[in-house]
Amino acid sequence: MGKAFILCLFLMGTAQGFSQAEITEEELYDHISFLTSADNAGRYPGSKTNKALTNYIVQELKSSGVEKPKRSYRQKFTAELRVSGKTQKKPKVKTWNIIGVLRGNHPTLRNEYIVLGAHYDHLGYGGPSSKSDKKNAVHPGADDNASGTAALLEIAERLAHNKDRLQRSVIFVAFGAEEQGLLGSKHFVANPPVPLSQIKLMINMDMVGRLNDQKHVYMGGAGTFPGGERLMAELGKKAGLNPVIHAGSVGGSDHVSFYKKGIPVLGMHTGGHPQYHTPEDTLDLINIEGEKMVCDYIYETILALAGSDRTLQFIAQD
Ligand SMILES: [Zn+2]
Repeated sequence: MGKAFILCLFLMGTAQGFSQAEITEEELYDHISFLTSADNAGRYPGSKTNKALTNYIVQELKSSGVEKPKRSYRQKFTAELRVSGKTQKKPKVKTWNIIGVLRGNHPTLRNEYIVLGAHYDHLGYGGPSSKSDKKNAVHPGADDNASGTAALLEIAERLAHNKDRLQRSVIFVAFGAEEQGLLGSKHFVANPPVPLSQIKLMINMDMVGRLNDQKHVYMGGAGTFPGGERLMAELGKKAGLNPVIHAGSVGGSDHVSFYKKGIPVLGMHTGGHPQYHTPEDTLDLINIEGEKMVCDYIYETILALAGSDRTLQFIAQD
């Protein structure tokens, strides 16, 4: 064996051993598999395994080369949990948002931020937001929103490998307690790691694991910044997808917290299904190949917007 060949093998080995420059179906599968595992018991805020679960997210971001924004990747907050009876007292628990940053290279644009977010929490054993009559069954939330959390980790990893192409900076957030009323994102915009005026766009991924045969990727908010609808249509086509683009329709998930502060948003998902908020939202129903396509689409969107000085002026929608 020649020296060059051995070196080549060594480099291939390290690429596989640490982090990959590409988003892979295997890694997406592994993330969703961990997030939906019995140990994580439906990712309920304040549960016994909440801290270990967030450690996983921190470790993944760290090993990809994503930095902590200030002193810590963790942003702790208190969540008041939903209860079924009106008179019942709401339990208060401690939980976390996990935040990472990749700094842009342009001397001034690096002070502008694009936020990519996904909530990692789910319903635990069901509770008042469950649509199922099976009480006390783990709700694994594979699509809602292990899929978005896995996408966040994979897109962060690929962007970290290509950070020399970033002009603006990118913040990654795994939100806690979304299912309890967007609590993580509300806390984030009330206590942002950078001034809100410097956040130029927020892209949210909530349920991106069920791409259908028509390859429909749904999004709200594409009209909240100039040329958004056109850009998303073009990039979608290039990605081999059929995006269903709404200028407004800003609702349903953590991007709403940013929209209410006058920040442009894109809320991305692959559509609803009968397993929504039931114990049957499982890993085997995830379209991993489709999710990789959606991830690559969002990756290209971030590169187009963070890799340029394109105007991201807020446009309100009805
Ligand atoms: Zn949900």
